[in-house]
Amino acid sequence: MSRIYERVAYIGLGLIASSMIHAGRRAGLQGEITGTARSAETRAIAREDGLCDIVAETAVEAVKDADLVVLCVPVGAMGRVAEEIGPHLKPGCTVTDVGSVKRAVIDAVAPHMPEGVHFIPAHPLAGTEHSGPRSGFAELFQNRYTLIVPDGDVDPAALSRLEQFWVGLGANVEVMDPEHHDLVLMVTSHAPHLIAYTMVGVADDLRRVTDSEVIKYSAAGFRDFTRIAASDPTMWRDVFLNNKDATMEILGRFIEELMSLQRAIRKGDGDLLFDYFTRTRAIRRGIIEAGQDTDAPDFGRGKGAKE
Ligand code: NAP
Repeated sequence: MSRIYERVAYIGLGLIASSMIHAGRRAGLQGEITGTARSAETRAIAREDGLCDIVAETAVEAVKDADLVVLCVPVGAMGRVAEEIGPHLKPGCTVTDVGSVKRAVIDAVAPHMPEGVHFIPAHPLAGTEHSGPRSGFAELFQNRYTLIVPDGDVDPAALSRLEQFWVGLGANVEVMDPEHHDLVLMVTSHAPHLIAYTMVGVADDLRRVTDSEVIKYSAAGFRDFTRIAASDPTMWRDVFLNNKDATMEILGRFIEELMSLQRAIRKGDGDLLFDYFTRTRAIRRGIIEAGQDTDAPDFGRGKGAKE
């Protein structure tokens, strides 16, 4: 694969940015890589590891002359970063982001994008529960979807270049509109995280159990929940605060379903439970058939891409 952007600037140097840098380097997609992070500590790690060609002290410095700027900070910080870099962007450059929520990020970022800059939001559906500049790996996006989520019309050439970049990083790329994105992701990623956080929280409330039995005998079900519930608290706080409507919609439905299962259990309605679990089992089979997971049990121990 040949070089797609001469100069790429990463704002935020955590799991997603460092994975993009490793994958992009391996495929030769980017010329010079500049990066910056909020804390001096992360910038020092990036320098020590040679993560970027240049580690800039500020986002303003980092975006100077960049052809592609990738915002890799928590969803709630995107607007502030956009405001800071807006006046310093090179005319004709592309600004993209990797935020897990799209409508709120678009509303926060777009007003700060000057005329002639292409703002094309995106979201890689890949992640782990680890964070920081040392958590990334080049294979993270391999065979996972990245959704490109433009808000209305965007320059077709800029869009196609960004698509090629993501394909070069290993991803399958699809274009989706922001509202649909936020609803789909609420079902497939955000609600499961909220449920995992709750389940682990409930177990923690039952101290008697957590202190000993849950850890000692942790079966695959609970262990998978704890892996998801170990995800970055800042990232997930921002996701829920910025995807409120879809969260409310899906949580309402979830509570209704949970209550219907509760009722079936109370009434001893085994047929309902059996039919329900048969239907859900087929969904798992569908995911495996679509190549988005393997059938091998790893009990949540693998480096699995989970978003
Ligand atoms: P991460 O590993 O925690 O890294 C976040 C980076 O953003 C760090 O470099 C951090 O700087 C910087 N940052 C944090 N708060 C900031 C603020 N208020 N202002 C400026 N910079 C700030 O996070 P990540 O997992 O790469 O996630 C980055 C983005 O990708 C998020 O928007 C998230 O929604 C999205 N995403 C995540 C996943 C996933 O599973 N992790 C998957 C898909 C998309 P310091 O290190 O200096 O604190």
